[in-house]
Amino acid sequence: MDVARRFDYAQQHTADHILTGVIHRRYGLTTWVSTWEKESTFIDLNGILDESALFEMERVANEAVWMDLPVEASWPDDSTLARLDYRSKKGPNGAGAHCYHSGIDVCACCGIHVEHTGAVGLIKILSVTRLRGGVRVEYAAGRRAYHYLDTVQQNRMISAVLSARPLHTAEAVRRLLEERDAARKRCVALEQKRFEVLAQQQSGQGDTPV
Ligand SMILES: [Zn+2]
Repeated sequence: MDVARRFDYAQQHTADHILTGVIHRRYGLTTWVSTWEKESTFIDLNGILDESALFEMERVANEAVWMDLPVEASWPDDSTLARLDYRSKKGPNGAGAHCYHSGIDVCACCGIHVEHTGAVGLIKILSVTRLRGGVRVEYAAGRRAYHYLDTVQQNRMISAVLSARPLHTAEAVRRLLEERDAARKRCVALEQKRFEVLAQQQSGQGDTPV
């Protein structure tokens, strides 16, 4: 794995720990699977959380990022493990390393991590969908979050086209769709009216008996 790819992996994976860690601490949920795609990462939570709660957790996770907490790996013995408040994807004896995020997350893990949470840079939730009794959360961290901000430029262009401020483009698009739907209804009504007039004009003209 080259250096850039390794760092990208470390940013996304550490963000997974931080985001899941704060959710686990507040709501007791955990991640049962993580899926990687080219531009974003998905975590599937084993319970339902609504969007407002998740975006609050995003804020808390980013506070942990900006506190630049040390990310430590340790190999505790059985007696230490017994005392740990432990979020585990695997059994305590089934994983090689125990990754410790300064109180944010304690989890059995063999993955690659950044050395301090600040290196994650930013965690941005992109979408939330219900899934099999849980929630799938799509996020971008670090360099991927930076690239995601390119969409802000796209929004600026849309705002110029719609003559709407950048933070009001969604409302402008919603209004545009409502106007389109209303125009469609008027169009259908006018066509119906026109057909009725044509039908009246043609009435009796095509029914000459043989
Ligand atoms: Zn890990």
